[in-house]
Amino acid sequence: MAIIIDGKKVSAEVKEQVRIETEELIKKGIKPGLAVIIVGDDPASRVYVNNKKKACEKVGFLSKEFALPATTTQEELLALVNELNEDKEINGILCQLPLPKGLDEKAVIEAISPLKDVDAFHASNVGKIMIGDYDFLPCTPAGVMEMLHSYNIPVEGKECVVIGRSNIVGKPMAMLLLHENGTVTITHSRTKNLKEVTKRADILVAAIGKPKFVTADMVKEGAVVIDVGMDRDENGKLCGDVDFENVKEKCSAITPVPGGVGPMTIAVLMKNTLKACKIQNNL
Ligand code: NAP
Repeated sequence: MAIIIDGKKVSAEVKEQVRIETEELIKKGIKPGLAVIIVGDDPASRVYVNNKKKACEKVGFLSKEFALPATTTQEELLALVNELNEDKEINGILCQLPLPKGLDEKAVIEAISPLKDVDAFHASNVGKIMIGDYDFLPCTPAGVMEMLHSYNIPVEGKECVVIGRSNIVGKPMAMLLLHENGTVTITHSRTKNLKEVTKRADILVAAIGKPKFVTADMVKEGAVVIDVGMDRDENGKLCGDVDFENVKEKCSAITPVPGGVGPMTIAVLMKNTLKACKIQNNL
């Protein structure tokens, strides 16, 4: 029976550390601030933004939400980003993706000051991650690494397979595993004989976006399985990219959905905002 990696617990520990450090900063008259922009009325985005707001309140940050209508123009959105870039109360800026059709996500990401880019999506931060000299790590992959550290799961020398090559999860995930000396393979929809590749993995990370895609026959006995997916099953119930019930019988450790990677993403966002605040205050 596998160890169920408890993302809620690790996330609470990370947030508690952020809260303690924030308390110290507040004593010095410095309060970290996060601005969250949400455009349109996508229900999933609304849930994510509310969770981020709640986390900010818990750790003691100033949190400002900018809820814009779906009719917002690119110019209006960029004007808000520029205003927040200059706002001394704000240390981190996050624009909840996806944006409604007609808005250019890439341009918005590039407009956010790299110093306030707490999602680490800006090209300059992505480049810094590539060369291993970074201020911020992308929240979801960094959250996965925090969980591995917390459970003393070493990466060095391990066969690591990442399914998915998106800019926000798959690619940076592979890079972080590589930084810790894993032997990393990235797979995607054009990968041939996927099962043969995933079965080599000591650490398998699924970031596909397809419910229960990773089945037990794709997993090596004793592997560590990290499920980044946030999907809905045939009954509309939240599930991951991994067939949890069957895979857990075969692997040594596994993250559940919900309660695995999801809470970690927000914890790292808090960590990044605190770091941004410290950097901007020369601390
Ligand atoms: P994405 O941009 O849609 O990327 C999905 C990746 O999966 C692509 O690289 C795609 O390959 C690959 N893929 C699709 N079908 C495949 C197949 N049959 N075999 C192998 N690879 C396949 O998705 P994403 O943004 O990375 O998100 C992935 C999942 O993570 C989603 O469920 C999302 O909701 C979840 N997520 C969770 C969090 C969190 O906080 N827990 C954060 C972000 C995302 P191609 O490149 O060839 O198309």
